[in-house]
Amino acid sequence: MKTRSVLESVSPYNPPRLREEISVDHGSERYVKLTMNELSFGPLPEARAAIVETLSRAGRYPDRDATPLREAIARANPGLSPDNVVVGNGSSETLVDLMQILERPGEVVIPWPSFPFYVSAARVVGLNARKVTLDGHHRVDLDAMLAAVTDETRAIIVCNPNNPSGTYLPLAEVRRFAEALPEGVLVILDEAYYDFVDDPAYAGSHGLVLQSENVVSTRTFSKVHGLAGFRVGYGLAPRRLADLVWSTHVPFSVNQAGQAAAAASMGQPEAIAGRSRLMKRERERVQDAFGAAGLEYVPSHTNFVMVGAKPRLFEKTGVLVREGEALGYPVGWSRVTIGGPEENDRLLAALG
Ligand code: PMP
Repeated sequence: MKTRSVLESVSPYNPPRLREEISVDHGSERYVKLTMNELSFGPLPEARAAIVETLSRAGRYPDRDATPLREAIARANPGLSPDNVVVGNGSSETLVDLMQILERPGEVVIPWPSFPFYVSAARVVGLNARKVTLDGHHRVDLDAMLAAVTDETRAIIVCNPNNPSGTYLPLAEVRRFAEALPEGVLVILDEAYYDFVDDPAYAGSHGLVLQSENVVSTRTFSKVHGLAGFRVGYGLAPRRLADLVWSTHVPFSVNQAGQAAAAASMGQPEAIAGRSRLMKRERERVQDAFGAAGLEYVPSHTNFVMVGAKPRLFEKTGVLVREGEALGYPVGWSRVTIGGPEENDRLLAALG
């Protein structure tokens, strides 16, 4: 069979280690999983109820157009209409959907270290990923990204805030960057961690999307909404791009329980804001403790922190974190997801 040889160099997703692989046995006590930037407490009660309600319709295909969900997302982003919203099976699928509409051959410029999926997704759709190193403050280096643009560049991804460094760029900088790029280059703002940034100078990329032909932002229900297992993400896009994505998208990829849960969760902005505040408070507590223990860390604006400590340190108290070298950081660094208060107590007990 003739298959595409370029696919042989695509690495499969390398999942974090499991409990069985850690060196310390904690008996029957459950280990704490702080490896994948999930939210420990899961969906809101309203989302849980919505999921149960869909069971009676499980024999039917979901709404192909995900209309109530796209309407709920548009309402939360003033000025946008549901026609500017595309949804996907996680924002991972939306990222692939966006890359898929680009002309090939060509390149996608990405920051590095950043979300490793960009590299494999680009290759799968027939594009090359060109990595641009973060600046000295672990921030996405917009000047260097701009300098990396060639005639081959089809898209630039700005992971904002960036995973795994946790740093962010204010909207004004992103806007200047987008305006400096040739119009033929798609700007993808990956805003998976949007809800964890405090700075009012950050939010509002939907306005930029509205004013441009070539800027999209992607977000997810996997983080603050606690719905990672239901796989729902979305993109905000100018109408022409949204139409193209929507017409080429795999039909029914977002199942009806996911659609209903995400729409219900979107309808509870105060509860979601409360969760963000809790996670930010916990993040500050964890960072302060790292500092007090003399550990180097990158001040974060997300629900995870990059810290200069080996995963083994946290295994002492049965806590699993992601090893930095799996994410483009040197050995001796770890990415620690901010858990619930008790999970973070366990994490910090390892420092004592
Ligand atoms: N973008 C970034 C930066 C991420 O870290 C993740 C998941 N960890 C995603 C996108 C994809 O998330 P999902 O597919 O669950 O929406």
